Amino acid sequence: MKEDYYDILGVSKSASDSEIKKAYRKQALKYHPDKNPGDSEAEEKFKKAAEAYEVLSDSDKRARYDQFGHQAFDGAGGFGGGGMNMDDIFSQFGDIFGGAFGGGFGGFGGGGGRRVAKGSNLRIRVSLTLEEIANGVEKKIKVKRKVQAPGTTYKTCPTCNGTGQVTKIANTILGRMQTSSPCPTCGGAGQTIDKLGSGGDSQGMIAKEETVSVKIPAGVVDGMQLKVTGKGNDAPGNGIAGDLLVLISEKEDQVLKREGDNLHYDLYVSLPDAVLGASKEIDTVTGKVRIKLDPGVQSGKILRLRGKGVPSINGYGRGDLLVHVNVWTPKTLNKSQKEFFESMRNDEHFQPKPEKGDKSFFEKVKDMFS
Ligand SMILES: [Zn+2]
Repeated sequence: MKEDYYDILGVSKSASDSEIKKAYRKQALKYHPDKNPGDSEAEEKFKKAAEAYEVLSDSDKRARYDQFGHQAFDGAGGFGGGGMNMDDIFSQFGDIFGGAFGGGFGGFGGGGGRRVAKGSNLRIRVSLTLEEIANGVEKKIKVKRKVQAPGTTYKTCPTCNGTGQVTKIANTILGRMQTSSPCPTCGGAGQTIDKLGSGGDSQGMIAKEETVSVKIPAGVVDGMQLKVTGKGNDAPGNGIAGDLLVLISEKEDQVLKREGDNLHYDLYVSLPDAVLGASKEIDTVTGKVRIKLDPGVQSGKILRLRGKGVPSINGYGRGDLLVHVNVWTPKTLNKSQKEFFESMRNDEHFQPKPEKGDKSFFEKVKDMFS
């Protein structure tokens, strides 16, 4: 059972935006990894608070959460999938730490050891056609990345000598205690600007448009997020670049309907084709395919073309293409056609005689979902 977001932040359901922000800030500062080094429980609480804040600070998401609870964010997007890592939290909510942790160089690479300044992540949404999804595609994406402005140089921070940490000895009721916190001068990066290059902001950075090539594997699903390591914003000084997060969105196909890895296609056939049998060409995601309809094919029959669906994102197997046969009954007839059908009204060949193997529509639907 997932914990209630309001409970996590300790606010009421009617809390105002500023109350929510205040509550989150309090939690974030209390469980901040710099204050609780190596404490995995604190890290968990820190992440939970960030997750709750992400939802409750956004009026759209908050409304959805109020209505549907955690189910509102299951599956596509949000926190349903991979969850949020520390870098995301810092890059997304960095401003909230502003006062307490200095106007630093953004986030830090998580996980103990030597801390390295990391540039923030960039997010972009990519719309793909079904064909692109089925075959995989390489997309050239224009992004505006922050890079170091030409001419900017950095020097070791004089306050912390490049460690990014300052240590204080404090007298407490438990005795003298040593505490360390991020350096207020460099914000933890260990470096400050020596010479500011032209056009550089306060961190020596400048926005630059760049084309990034993103390889999208076959079988991706709407709402999935891909990560291109190092293609987010560069970090000032000798830090490492953030990542480019690519959110997949799937354009609806007008002909083929996707259901997991399987595809569905509605094939309309004329009455003569259904009666006499026919050969039909249909478009699939991998090109045209010819299928044979036996004489006397019934409306509602489903032909399964194995392996003509979408490849599994896990890399093994492909879905199928299910062709649904719909026999088209003419709505207008000329005189002789009318006479023909009139004369067939009582003909024994025209009387419905479902065979044992012919499943009803309801049985087919049942089969499809079992
Ligand atoms: Zn410093």
